[in-house]
Amino acid sequence: MTTIYSARWVLPVADAAIENGAVTVEGQRIAGVGPTAELVATFPDAKRESLGEAVILPGLINTHTHLELTALRGYLEKEETNFFAWLRKLTIARLERMTPDDIRVSATWGACEAVRAGITHVGDASDSALQSMLALQEVGLGGVVFQESFGPDARLVQENFEKLKVKVNELRAHESELVRAGVSPHAPYTVCAPQLELIAELAQAEGLPLMMHAAESEAEELLLREGCGPFAEGLARRSIEWNAPGVSTIQYLKQHGILATRPLLAHCIRVDDRDIETLRETQSTVAHCPKSNAKLGHGRAPFAKFFDAGVRVGLGSDSVASNNTCDILEEARLATLLSRAAGAHISAEQALHAATFGGELREGAKADLVAVGLNGAHQTPNYDPAATLIFSSSGRDVILTVIDGREIYRDGRITTVDEDRLRARMREIAANLRG
Ligand SMILES: [Zn+2]
Repeated sequence: MTTIYSARWVLPVADAAIENGAVTVEGQRIAGVGPTAELVATFPDAKRESLGEAVILPGLINTHTHLELTALRGYLEKEETNFFAWLRKLTIARLERMTPDDIRVSATWGACEAVRAGITHVGDASDSALQSMLALQEVGLGGVVFQESFGPDARLVQENFEKLKVKVNELRAHESELVRAGVSPHAPYTVCAPQLELIAELAQAEGLPLMMHAAESEAEELLLREGCGPFAEGLARRSIEWNAPGVSTIQYLKQHGILATRPLLAHCIRVDDRDIETLRETQSTVAHCPKSNAKLGHGRAPFAKFFDAGVRVGLGSDSVASNNTCDILEEARLATLLSRAAGAHISAEQALHAATFGGELREGAKADLVAVGLNGAHQTPNYDPAATLIFSSSGRDVILTVIDGREIYRDGRITTVDEDRLRARMREIAANLRG
């Protein structure tokens, strides 16, 4: 089927905005982008969908999520001043207080929230990656689901690595064109060096994308550089040996093979100029998570420096346990404002480039696109659609999300799942967690 989506504006991101523009979708591909009159003449038999006062742009990409933790939105507010206690309460809730079905519902609800906010693909890290992958597929959201691996104790490396391989094989068996499998050694403070090396080798041998948390907190930096602080104390309490390498996280990850996999690294707050150069040389990608970083008091990543250095950078919400929404337009606004507040200019176009992870509307590209309504009081008048999107709009203004040619969100409803049933289950899960 061929459909022409037209709107007041089309913003291909890579090219200039088109007033009274349209995008033709043929199956899973974009067949044309241009002025509406031209596309109607080229595709006279296509179905017409006029979206009115709106802007059509490439799908938004959330490069760092943990959708399985959506039920923990607002659950950890009291622990936020102590990252160690925060992680501990989160881990106990997920492992001991949520059933596999709770995890699945939590991830599915998170996928709905993402699609409602115009997100077409996610980089999702999950301890229960299979549940998350099935949730994405049920909703029709695209992305990579990274199976997490934990293991700070070098004595348990083989055991932990075997467990990971079993889970990854299971995950791969469920891969689809839309949702792929990846691996994620959780963080430098939860995975020991020999385990990092084995996972890096596995990723390279199997062609698996690799994501990990890197250079996020002061506690992590203290552990790596000086071998002290809350993470060091936590390891000592469990009689786990730790020898501080005395280098930054980025150099440590390079030493242990992680950067050879061209990883996606979440956070990258505590990086110096040499680290940024290392990220560029190794073609590592950064998932910049400004709201999560601010909410947990971890600081601010050098967003503009990544751009200037030619490091590929996208935006991530992280889990809604530390955000508390999954909204990449909000993330883009905060990234831009925080950068400017620190004296480093980011343009609305650069912010959109990060929000779409370099995505573009062009003939032949995958039909992943979003329409943002422009009728809001907060968006009127609109002189420049890019600026209106970044500085005046949020995911709540999205009116249509098309993923792989399918309308997944339209007219205020997700088309693929029963949101009322999921909402009721989410409230039940929260009642159990509260009790
Ligand atoms: Zn994270």
